[in-house]
Amino acid sequence: DLEHPVKVLIVGNGAVGKSSMIQRYCKGIFTREYKKTIGVDFLEKKLSVKGEELRLMIWDTAGQEEFDSLTKAYYRDAEACVVAFSTIDRDSFEAVESWIKKVEDEVGRIPMVLIQNKVDLIEEAAMTKEEAEALADRIKLKFYRTSVQENYNVDQVFQYLSELYVDE
Ligand code: GDP
Ligand code: MG
Repeated sequence: DLEHPVKVLIVGNGAVGKSSMIQRYCKGIFTREYKKTIGVDFLEKKLSVKGEELRLMIWDTAGQEEFDSLTKAYYRDAEACVVAFSTIDRDSFEAVESWIKKVEDEVGRIPMVLIQNKVDLIEEAAMTKEEAEALADRIKLKFYRTSVQENYNVDQVFQYLSELYVDE
């Protein structure tokens, strides 16, 4: 049923760029200002996938992920998920598998995609290209390098995830 909105999560450590990515994708804006919350539960975006119109409801967190205290309501009925880490944050990279586990413990297997955000800062990378690719291989997720700041690969991530969802 492509009429109902698809609940999409973005998980990952604090400050990897989750809220920025939602704002960029849904509203076309980017701000340098560090905002812990965008003040709403989710933003919506319509896109077309294989000739069908799809409505994504992309859920943001209010910064509780830093305290490992996302509520069950955040995960409930999620149907697809972006798992994010930051180029300049080693801890966020090492936390990827624990984020996937949290999602799967709550909602089971759903379509997912792995992203390395802030690739505009690749000179300061806290992990090698090989390490990032080895992780993607191990967890068997398609891997995108993104820069929300430069608007690089953001649309592609959601387009791919939507195709996975539709193909399910
Ligand atoms: P969240 O905690 O995961 O929601 O992260 P935010 O969206 O609040 O972003 C944290 C900080 O990273 C903010 O200052 C953003 O402006 C910045 N940021 C987000 N995406 C990028 C990016 O692609 N490149 C750079 N250089 N900074 C980014
Ligand atoms: Mg945020």
